[in-house]
Formats: sequence, C-alpha cells, structure tokens
Amino acid sequence: MVFFFKVCRISHFSLWESSDMSMPIRLLVLLGLLACPWVAQAKSELKTQNVLVVMSDGLRPIEVFGGADEKVMTKALGGVTDTDTVKTEYLLPTAVERREKLMPFLWSTMAKQGQIFGNRDAGSTATVTNGLKFSYPGYSETLCGFADPRISTNDPINNPNVTVFEWLNKRPTFQGRVAAFGAWLRFTHIFNADRCGFPVNCGFDPLTAGKTNTRIELLNRLKQQIPPSWDIQPDDALTYHTALEYLKENKPRLFFLALGETDEFGHKKDYPNYLRAANRYDGYLKEIWETVQAMPEYRGKTTLIAMTDHGRGDLGKWRGHKGLPNAEYIWISVLGPDTPALGERRNVAVVTQSQVAATIAALLGEDFPAAVPQAAPPIRDVLTVLK
Ligand SMILES: [Zn+2]
Repeated sequence: MVFFFKVCRISHFSLWESSDMSMPIRLLVLLGLLACPWVAQAKSELKTQNVLVVMSDGLRPIEVFGGADEKVMTKALGGVTDTDTVKTEYLLPTAVERREKLMPFLWSTMAKQGQIFGNRDAGSTATVTNGLKFSYPGYSETLCGFADPRISTNDPINNPNVTVFEWLNKRPTFQGRVAAFGAWLRFTHIFNADRCGFPVNCGFDPLTAGKTNTRIELLNRLKQQIPPSWDIQPDDALTYHTALEYLKENKPRLFFLALGETDEFGHKKDYPNYLRAANRYDGYLKEIWETVQAMPEYRGKTTLIAMTDHGRGDLGKWRGHKGLPNAEYIWISVLGPDTPALGERRNVAVVTQSQVAATIAALLGEDFPAAVPQAAPPIRDVLTVLK
C-alpha cells in the first residue's frame, strides 16, 4: 500500500509539473491527490518541526545566480559612478565569484546543504503564476498557494483567502507559535491580521506581542524616531532585528520575515544600494540560521525557505517589475533536515511560487491542498519523504 501511495504521489506531481497540463486536468489530479493518505506516513519520517520563511522583495534571479550585473553598473542605468566602491567590490570576473561575493551564505550553505531553484541558464525555472509581477499578488500566492484574480492591487484590502500560516495556526500544536514580520506595512492585510489569530508586526508599528526585552523596546522607539527613508516601511535593519529578537524570546514554530530594501533601491535606480541590501539580506539569513542552530528548540529540526515575491525587468527596465517581461521569474531556496542536498538545481521541472504554501505545510507533515483545493502541490524534490 505504501508503495502504491508513493507511486501515485509521484505520478500526480509529475503530471502537475508538465507545462502542457490543462486546468481541468490539474483539478482532477488534485482530486486524485486527496485520495493519497501520505500524511500519516510522512509525518513519522519528517524531522522538520519549525519552518522559517525569509523573503527579500524584488531581488532578481540575475543577481542571485550571476552576482552584480555589469550591464546595469553604469551611471545612466544604475546610478553607479566610476569611483563607486561597490564596483570594485562586486564586479568580479566570473558569475560564480560575483554571486558568492554578493550572497556568501546562500552559496556556501543554502545552495550546498539545501537546494536552490530558478537558474534558467541551468535549466531550472521558478516563476510566479499571478501574471501581475508585483508584491501583494506575489506574497498572497506564496502564502495562500494560488493566484487569486481578486488580488490585483497593492491596496490595503484584507486578504479574503487563508494563508498557510493561518491554517496551521488553527492546529493546537501551532496555536500561539506562529508570527509574521514585514518591513512593508501591507502585511497586516496580506495575512489578514484582523482574522488570522497570530501577531503580524509590520511597517512602523511597535512590537507589543509576546515576551519583550530592552532591545525590542529600543527598536520600537527607533522605528518611530528615525526619519523614514520610505513612507511605506522602515529600514530593513529595524524590522529584521525586531523579528530576530521575537524569534529568540518566543521561539515560534512558524516564522515569516519579509524585507523590502532590495525593491525600494531598485525603484530608486540605486544599483549600489540594491546590491548592498541583497548582501545584508544574505547576512540576515546567515544570522537567523546560526541563531536557530544554537537553540535546542530549533537545532536539527528547522527548515529555512529563502525567496522573493517577484523578479524585475532586464537592462534598462531593471528598476521596475509590474507587468514587465521576465519579472515573473523568481528563485526559491530551501535548507533543512528533510531537504536532500541537491544544491543548485539543473534541468528540472518548473517550480512555481504557488507551490510554496503546500511545501511549508508538507514539511510539517500537513496536506494543505487537501483543505484548499486551489493550492498547488508541494515542491516534491525538497521533501525526502515524497521522493
Ligand atoms: Zn516594487
């Protein structure tokens, strides 16, 4: 029986991943999927008990896989001067050297001990399915598991859909162990903080949920007092350290953090600071990973997912993303005890942003598409139990 169910899972996923499968067939496949009781079997084999999702807004696969893009390293396209130190720091001879310089933790640890999807030059595509290529639709697709045509603006409208965070928070084992942080103030609406039942701290709001400490109290004051670089979010460092302190004090099982500087500096045509923000984000991933590996509640039983909500345009269009060609392409990296160390994925089926919600649930032994039929299935390759 177990063998049969494993086979049926694999055939469903293979079908899903074939690009020419029509939507009615996908629905039939999903209905069939519900008949596969893999969850009980998978749960006992899984080591993951905590999932951390850490995103950086609008960080292109071009930089993640190739490092600094020489083509936009000009004054006209990227606001880069001849004497800019970022040029000597990040413009190295090969793509491998450039990307390791820009994102050393991602390439030395996540992409070696875990997996990364999205290098189209290597035959790996990661893409949004929402067709809109901007933030609210991207985060909603990531967290709810499907692109909802009603989510078509960045306006402050509460998400009518339930995120996988909200869905898991209803389980007794997750109740009170879920938290979300975002630099962008819109996460209140994306998670539907009025309804979701767990803390969503974002924008300039002081953190009042959970156990506090003097560092959180100071960060709350700084968020109010530092003149904001942008109207819609504080500097990433304030949100990041607030989230890290919460993580250390309250030890959530399901943790979300989204940073925004990569997108903001992109729109400002400030390529040096876009690169520096990407580099800081990589440092944050490293610090989070090292922090949790030093805590008994997390060590050896935590999966980290790093990704972006959308890509950006190419060359002269790199500043923007909404509706632009190639801005649908993203990258997704997973590191954890249940993810085979397959590294940088090459010549693999397309993965979609909509698969992330079910992947988060599956890592915790839960079947999200069984409850939310519109949700895409998990990314099979990052789960040993689904192999
Ligand atoms: Zn943007």
